[in-house]
Amino acid sequence: MIGVVGGGVAGLATARRLLEQGHQVTVFEASEDLGGLAATYETAGHPIERYYHHLSKSEETIVEWIDELGLESDLAWGYSSTAYYVDGVVHPMDKPWEILAYPHLSVYDKFRLGMLVLDIDVRGGIPSFDTYERLEDFEDVPVKEFIIDHTSRGCFERFFKPLLEAKFGDRWDDVSAAWLLGRVKFRGERDPLRGELLGYPMGGFGRLIDALVDAVGKMNIFTGSRAVDIGIEGGAVKSVTVETDQGKVPHAVDGVVIATMPDVLESLTGYECEIDFQGTVCSVISLEEALTDTYWLNIADDAPFGALIEHTNLVSAKQYGGEHLLYAVKYIQDREDELWQMDDEGVEETWLTGIEDLFPEFDRESVNWIETSRSPKTAPIYERGYLEKVIPYDLSEYVAEGVYYAGMASRAQYPERSLNGAIVAGETCAELIDHDE
Ligand SMILES: Cc1cc2nc3c(=O)[nH]c(=O)nc-3n(C[C@H](O)[C@H](O)[C@H](O)COP(=O)(O)OP(=O)(O)OC[C@H]3O[C@@H](n4cnc5c(N)ncnc54)[C@H](O)[C@@H]3O)c2cc1C
Repeated sequence: MIGVVGGGVAGLATARRLLEQGHQVTVFEASEDLGGLAATYETAGHPIERYYHHLSKSEETIVEWIDELGLESDLAWGYSSTAYYVDGVVHPMDKPWEILAYPHLSVYDKFRLGMLVLDIDVRGGIPSFDTYERLEDFEDVPVKEFIIDHTSRGCFERFFKPLLEAKFGDRWDDVSAAWLLGRVKFRGERDPLRGELLGYPMGGFGRLIDALVDAVGKMNIFTGSRAVDIGIEGGAVKSVTVETDQGKVPHAVDGVVIATMPDVLESLTGYECEIDFQGTVCSVISLEEALTDTYWLNIADDAPFGALIEHTNLVSAKQYGGEHLLYAVKYIQDREDELWQMDDEGVEETWLTGIEDLFPEFDRESVNWIETSRSPKTAPIYERGYLEKVIPYDLSEYVAEGVYYAGMASRAQYPERSLNGAIVAGETCAELIDHDE
């Protein structure tokens, strides 16, 4: 039997592929819920993810899996609307004329920004079309230096810096140019007149989790089972011990895939990962009325959140019984962060005051409910030299025969962590196990 530690998307994807290959599999999930970071809350209609989620057109594996799991007709693609909140004004940023009208960048800044987005290097006056092909070439280049060199100082100060600060807080300066370029490429299809296409399954990603659970079979999934030890004999893994209500239970295994954050891998095997992770505080605010007409609002002004994501400007509020759903989110680099220290009530009061400051017409009376999730490890800091720190899928050389890793510190979760990356990581581990037999 192959033990899979973690019942998030990566663990469930691993288990599904292994079962298809004819292996016996047991998934051990510490909590009572499956889905990990893609778990959901109830609304008056379909459930909503605790942390915002959508797909980009460049993510192909997850779309294949959605097809295979019979959900293809439910996957809808819609144009995202993005905007930048600067000096008290919401500036839409999707269409060429909106970008041209944006007052905080010069015409020259916009030209340089546009060229970078189109993957064209215009430094020295002669366009080059292959400069940005290999992300690895930019692994050790500081993001600030890269932006100033490849666009302009104006682009850096007035466009990229607030976005980097929102994403990485005071760690933004450690991030590599490779991450930025990866993000530019990772964004999928854009229609020049309508913006970027984003995907979302009708009924939410909870449907994908349910379909994965069905494919794996409930009898092969143990919830409330936290892996606390791995037994190694003669250089090979032999058992996984899980802690349950009934105490510690050992399970004999022929192999184990650890599909969790790297700290769990370290506690089980001693393998140390040097990647730093940041945490997230994220609330879903259910409103009677829409706050804006933007899906993704980046905020350059002082605010307690880095972005406001109004989910029901991507998916109709009708899907949620008429509730308008807004995410307020902040990434946390330091456990001493004031917001991280607050209880949920404090966080929610902070969000509402922040929204009132930005949108004076906002009426608290229109709030139906707020739910807050927080997790200390939700995203890697993609700093310079990141790829050298990635955890290999096959850990036989470093830990013991039969030990594999499919969590967020794996190669598939670069240049950005995603559900697609979780599936690719799980699929890759399953293929390696099948191949190694
Ligand atoms: C704010 C935010 C926004 C995001 N936006 C998007 C997006 O728009 N699009 C997108 O594709 N992705 C997005 N993601 C990323 C996506 O959610 C993750 O990449 C994906 O869910 C990771 O899945 P995973 O299975 O690797 O890890 P997780 O979801 O973290 O699952 C790990 C599981 O392991 C369990 N576990 C931990 N320790 C143990 C143990 N000792 N024993 C047993 N079980 C254990 C945990 O309880 C958990 O269920 C976002 C994530 C966040 C936080």
